[in-house]
Amino acid sequence: MELLKDYIRKYGNVPNDNVLKVDAFLNHQIDAKLMMELAKDFKEHFKDKKITKIMTIETSGIAPCVFLGYLLDVPVVFMKKNSSAILDENFYHTTVHSFTKNIDYDLILSKKYINEDDHVIFIDDFMANGEACLGALRIIEEAKANVSGIGIVIEKSFQNGRKLVEEKGFDIYSQARIKSLKQGTITFVEE
Ligand code: 5GP
Repeated sequence: MELLKDYIRKYGNVPNDNVLKVDAFLNHQIDAKLMMELAKDFKEHFKDKKITKIMTIETSGIAPCVFLGYLLDVPVVFMKKNSSAILDENFYHTTVHSFTKNIDYDLILSKKYINEDDHVIFIDDFMANGEACLGALRIIEEAKANVSGIGIVIEKSFQNGRKLVEEKGFDIYSQARIKSLKQGTITFVEE
């Protein structure tokens, strides 16, 4: 998506060869107009899919999802990284490893907000090693809901996430795909 690439070129920061910071429009300050454009793009991409719910993970996935939920008139549900309800049988939960932060965290989702009749689009802000996405898919599968699609705002294609998720049989639509961040230079995958 060209508009998103323009934002990344203009406002993105590269603190090291593996990390892209987009605090100026997505991860700290939020550019609402851009979020609406991301949502329109997801809507167009998934227009042939049955969608009853949009799912994401707190916090940065929420902004584009709210606009998409508005456009599609379906609920937006975010999985929480809170572990306080981990032993509560009313919640699905799974443990996710973050290679970026080198920590494990628990993803939880109330059983009230997903069921086997749901057709879910899962959306997240970044895909790196795919652990967050795979964790979310485990929960959606445990709930016996259907996965209608996976949408990622920024994919770091030099990391393993896409491969691992595709190996599970899922397609991924990424709005911007980063080929490399070497020496502070942002290079996109040619498409
Ligand atoms: P994964 O589970 O795919 O390894 O990482 C996904 C999560 O890690 C994203 O939801 C995001 O919060 C965070 N993340 C991974 N890499 C980056 C990055 O380069 N920049 C930012 N801002 N977040 C990242």
